This record gives sequence, structure tokens and C-alpha cells, in this order.
Amino acid sequence: MPGQNGGFNPFRDGHGRFADRPGGGGGSRETLSAPLPAKTEWSQGGVSVEFSGGKTPSYRVMHRDQMIKEFPATTKWRQDLAAATQHAAAHLSTLQAAEMTARIRTQAAAAAAPAAVPAAPEIAVLRDLAAGARVRATPEAYQTVGKAVLDQARLDPEAAAALARLAELKALAKGMTNAEWKRSLVDVGTKWRQDLPTATANAQVAANRHLHRAALEVVGRVRPLAEASDFNLIRGGYSRGTDLVAEVAGAFPRDWATTAARSGQLRIAEDHDGRSNYDTFYRTINFHKNAWATTMAHELGHYFENNVPGLRKAATAYRDQRAAGSPLQSLRAFSSAYGQDEVTKPDKFADPYIGKIYRDGDTEVCAMMSGAMGDRTADLAGKDPQMFAWWLGVLVSL
Ligand SMILES: [Zn+2]
Repeated sequence: MPGQNGGFNPFRDGHGRFADRPGGGGGSRETLSAPLPAKTEWSQGGVSVEFSGGKTPSYRVMHRDQMIKEFPATTKWRQDLAAATQHAAAHLSTLQAAEMTARIRTQAAAAAAPAAVPAAPEIAVLRDLAAGARVRATPEAYQTVGKAVLDQARLDPEAAAALARLAELKALAKGMTNAEWKRSLVDVGTKWRQDLPTATANAQVAANRHLHRAALEVVGRVRPLAEASDFNLIRGGYSRGTDLVAEVAGAFPRDWATTAARSGQLRIAEDHDGRSNYDTFYRTINFHKNAWATTMAHELGHYFENNVPGLRKAATAYRDQRAAGSPLQSLRAFSSAYGQDEVTKPDKFADPYIGKIYRDGDTEVCAMMSGAMGDRTADLAGKDPQMFAWWLGVLVSL
């Protein structure tokens, strides 16, 4: 600490040198008595300010044995000492920040490592798992194979990179404040000075989108995905709707499209009054002119639930198991856009509409999951990873 002389005689000369009696002062660089040897003026965490005696005294900022900077002790030695101490303290905090960053990066790398190399089953193994799930036909069985699909998706290079980036940011957020994070961005010369929470949130969204895309690609390797030509559409339907069927076809297995097509044709009509819907009796998707691809994927989900054997049963079993403890509620409690007669068991579904109960046994489960799969910006992996895994399991198994 400056000004504390420990065992030294407190006398200083005009340059701050220690002497055994009062110095000559007056700006002289000579002291009347022999100057006492060097003294540590300040010391913390391996960084110190050493005062050297002798003819041309100075304050030396040292890091262990290495001199970082030297400040000549002039007649304004108090200011020189303050400047040296300030420099030493700044150097210490730089060292501490670097050390902390290195430590956190090591932790982050360790945290990211298991995610980068999960025990991922091969596609052939996924096919076997899917065949087994199809026989057992329980929510757990579909979920298990869906989790295996996700493990495989995490191996996708872009998904793996996005997940590693996310793990690194999460580890950094645990060990450093936002101010420290911003300073470290200055150190590496990044112009983009994003807040740490914002960077983490963005990395989460990016990782989830890569996972969503990569998971659907894995499903496509297990079994072929549908194309527009697999749908048995009635010609001359609402053309904008027909275009959107082609756009979202790849969110469904080809088998679903061809199986459903065998029991009849599908009509795409323009809907003029309110919400788009699927009409079971007329096998018709009434599609609203302002609706988008995600709505088409949603209505196709209803179409498949009604035309792919086992799908409605799987959806009902999953919904009823998830929402077993959730009381029946009016959907009006969530939005005035719903009708008086619409009821749901909302559970903790990403959207309370998923738990909607129909008297005729239809569900919104397949439709809502299909709508999300057909929407590249939907965050299924983030909002409900358990249900995401279940739906992936259904897609590869049923
Ligand atoms: Zn619906």
C-alpha cells in the first residue's frame, strides 16, 4: 500500500527515496544519507510496484520477475507512484480476466464435448427402433426412437457447431458478467458488441433451428419423405393452396401420403369465411386466402390423422397421457378468437390448442405438430423438446 513503509524509516527525499534521516529536498536527485534499497510499494496477485533507490530512482511495475513498465520517480513522485500503482492494478485485472476467460473456455469445451459426440445410432438401427415402436405403439416407445433421431441430428455438422457455440456461451454466462463479456469482445476486436444474454438467446434459436432441420433430414434417411406428386389431389383446386401442399410435403413420410391417397382424393378449396379447416366428410382442405405454409401443414396433419391407420390413436394416447392432470378448460380463457364450445386440456403444451378435445375424437395434436414442422421458424425443440421427440418418433415409426 502506498505510504506504508513497513519496517523502513519513513523519511523520503525529493524523489521519494527512503533515507535514514530527512532528505535535502529542493528537487535534488541526491539524498543526504545513503538511499535505502528497493521497496515494494504495492503488491497483489503476483503484480507489484517496486521502488528502486539509487541515483535515478523509479517505480517499476513488475509481474513476477518481468518488468511491465517503468515510471521515473521525479520530484512529483507521489503522482508517479499513483500512476505506477494504477498501471499495476490495470495489469492485474487484465491478467485476471484473461485467466478467467481461459478457465471458462476450458469448462465450456468440456461441457460442449459430450454434446458433440453423442452415442448416435446408425440409420439401420433407427429403422429397427422404429419398427419396434410401431409394434409397441406407446407414447414412450415413440419418444425413445424420437430421442435417437435427435441424437443423430446433433451429429449434423451445422447443428453440432451451433450446439457447441450455445454450450460455450452458456458456460461463459455462468462465469462472467455482461460487462466483462463486452470487454472481452473489445479485446478480440469484434465490432458487434452484443449483450451476453442476447448472444445466448440468439445461439439457442440458431441451434434449435438447425436441430429442427437436421432431425427432419434424419427422418428422411430412415424413410422417404413425401413430394407433391404423392398426394392424390383433385385437379383444378385452389392453386395457391396446391402450391403450398408442394412446399410442405417434405414434412411428412411418403407412406402417409400414398396410404391416405389410396382411400380417396383430396380437394384443396378456397375458404372464404374465417379459419382454414379440414372437412373430414368431403376430404377437403378449405384454405383461407391469407393463410400460409404452416397452416397448410396443419390442415394436412388433420387429413393424415383421419387417413393414416394408427395416427389418431397415437395422438390421443399421447395427449391423454400428457394432459391427464390438466382440468378441462374453455379455450376462451386463452383467446377470444376461439368459439364458446371449444374446450381443451392445456397441460404445459407449447400452445393450449394442442390439448383441444373434440366430441368426434379428432385431435389437434398431429395438426399442431405438422404445422410446426412445416414452419422453419417454429421452435419445437425449444418450446417442448419432449413432444418434439415424440413427434419425430411417430414420423419414423408409423
Ligand atoms: Zn386444427
